[in-house]
Amino acid sequence: MGDRAATLCHALQALRALAATGSLRASHVYETRPWGLREQPDFLNAVAVFDTELDGLTLLAALGEMERAAGRSAPERPWGPRTLDLDILDLDGRVVADSALTLPHPRIAERAFVLVPLCELDPDWRDPLTGRTAAEMLVALDPDPSEVRPVGRCDPEEGRFLAGEAGPELPRD
Ligand code: ADP
Ligand code: MG
Repeated sequence: MGDRAATLCHALQALRALAATGSLRASHVYETRPWGLREQPDFLNAVAVFDTELDGLTLLAALGEMERAAGRSAPERPWGPRTLDLDILDLDGRVVADSALTLPHPRIAERAFVLVPLCELDPDWRDPLTGRTAAEMLVALDPDPSEVRPVGRCDPEEGRFLAGEAGPELPRD
């Protein structure tokens, strides 16, 4: 909801500040069809990879702070519209299942809006539970290209959204 691109690029700047200096790489920004709850506006999604010394729960708490700073207020409908949602996909291949944190994120393989930007950054990333790579999962899911469309990227210096840059080559078959 709101100025989606500004919110997303602002969040990436905040992540850059939290990450080990100079370590963050971010995917393009993709406009994506809603998943789970179909009758709602399209989302913007991106994936970032970075180094951090933080443990999972501390990182999750920091992400929650960023969501609140972006005006996210609970409760909302599951998978419904929100200003900002920051999820941890993987932390060093750790497998965690407690009430606050599940790692790896359990729905990666079903979500083209995760797999497409993840493949842009790291197609060889392996799910520590299944051993499958991001590229293998994307080929298996085989989403329609209209579901996840590159629309620009966030300028790493200024944190502004730069619309319209051509997207990357993605693994298909
Ligand atoms: P969703 O991301 O599925 O749309 P929420 O953002 O509302 O839903 O997250 C609900 C809860 O999911 C959070 O309070 C958090 O404790 C929990 N959670 C479990 N594993 C993760 C993870 N890997 N990344 C982010 N949140 C997680
Ligand atoms: Mg979330």
